[in-house]
Amino acid sequence: MTTWILNALFVDGDRQLVKRHLKVQDGKIAEWADGSASPDTNGCEVIDASGKLLSPGFIDMHVHLREPGFEYKETIASGTRSAAKGGFTTIACMPNTRPVTDTPETVRYVLDKAASEGVVKVLPYAAITKNELGRELTDFAALKEAGAIGFTDDGVGVQNAQMMKNAMALAKSLGLPVIAHCEDDSLVEGAAVTEGAFSRKHGLKGIPNESEAIHVGRDILLAEATGVHYHVCHVSTEQSVRLIKLGKSVGVNVTAEVCPHHLVLSDEDIPDTMDANWKMNPPLRTPRDVEACIRALEEGTIDIIVTDHAPHSAEEKARGMERAPFGIVGFETAFPLLYTKFVRTGRWTLGFLLSRMTSDPARVFGLDTGKLEPGAPADLVLIDLENEREVDPEAFLTRGRNTPFAGWKLYGWPTLTMVDGRVVWTEEEGIR
Ligand SMILES: [Zn+2]
Repeated sequence: MTTWILNALFVDGDRQLVKRHLKVQDGKIAEWADGSASPDTNGCEVIDASGKLLSPGFIDMHVHLREPGFEYKETIASGTRSAAKGGFTTIACMPNTRPVTDTPETVRYVLDKAASEGVVKVLPYAAITKNELGRELTDFAALKEAGAIGFTDDGVGVQNAQMMKNAMALAKSLGLPVIAHCEDDSLVEGAAVTEGAFSRKHGLKGIPNESEAIHVGRDILLAEATGVHYHVCHVSTEQSVRLIKLGKSVGVNVTAEVCPHHLVLSDEDIPDTMDANWKMNPPLRTPRDVEACIRALEEGTIDIIVTDHAPHSAEEKARGMERAPFGIVGFETAFPLLYTKFVRTGRWTLGFLLSRMTSDPARVFGLDTGKLEPGAPADLVLIDLENEREVDPEAFLTRGRNTPFAGWKLYGWPTLTMVDGRVVWTEEEGIR
């Protein structure tokens, strides 16, 4: 099976968009042809990509697919369809399912479901502790054997330092990373928003920045002691950035991720209606933290962008700011949001944004995708950079409608997504 993608725009170096043709064969990128050439497309499938950007498919190393156990929020089928529509071709799913993904059977269940019902590549994480309760380590070796790509108790922090150190030593011996949701429970106690202007105005208890940064600092020391690859989830504070920078500067194997919402929203943007579509964990922080996270991404202290796609039902999110669960959906707005807010405004180059969503996550997690080189898997996305469109949650393929970006006018909408050389979604036809 051979496909020619004709007349696509390709980011050459960092700034220049050049026209090229791309040949895809047997699921892999075969060769490039100059835009002025006329390749022989006889007997091939042809995709006309005129005027569209061609990028490696996006990689999202932090998502919640909710299956098994919370199928009313999302399924592997609906979540991967949402990912495809957002231009993502590889996603790594968190283990806070029901049951928690803490046994080889559950890891295999996720992989089997993804193979039979998913439309993009799914990489499962397994829990650090049984049931994510922080009391007893899971069987790391068996979980790796079943296909887990790393260990995390995402959703909660590992409260006990010795437990975390043991986990890191074990993960190191198996050559897998520890991915940490950093949150000290004793400093949070039921708060829903950050300590800042919004919490003061509404008399709400706030989540202090230290609740995140204390774990980041502790874990960097433990990573130094154990030598493990330690990856910090959804960085949201200036203090965490400072500690990660310090860790990197002394050679600790620490990497970090940041979410689009922590780059474009602060607590000062939360509407007074207390709409829980603005509630996520970590919470929206202060403008100072937002700027610190942007700078950290720019200078490489934060390595990659992830969505922390976290669907919930409408009923759950209607419970209000204090009682609704944390989280927002992310796949279908991530690229348009960042492209509109950072590239069209001239702060970032297109090449910079694409690398943080493709080649950088591939490098950090040792994946064979995220690049447009011959021999690489043909995991691709075409993007329309010129047409402005409103975010319409009713048109989402995720089951979640929980987004603070409804009605935002954005550019940079994907039009076609290909996984291993097979078109899995197009704007015109939807999921194939
Ligand atoms: Zn988390």
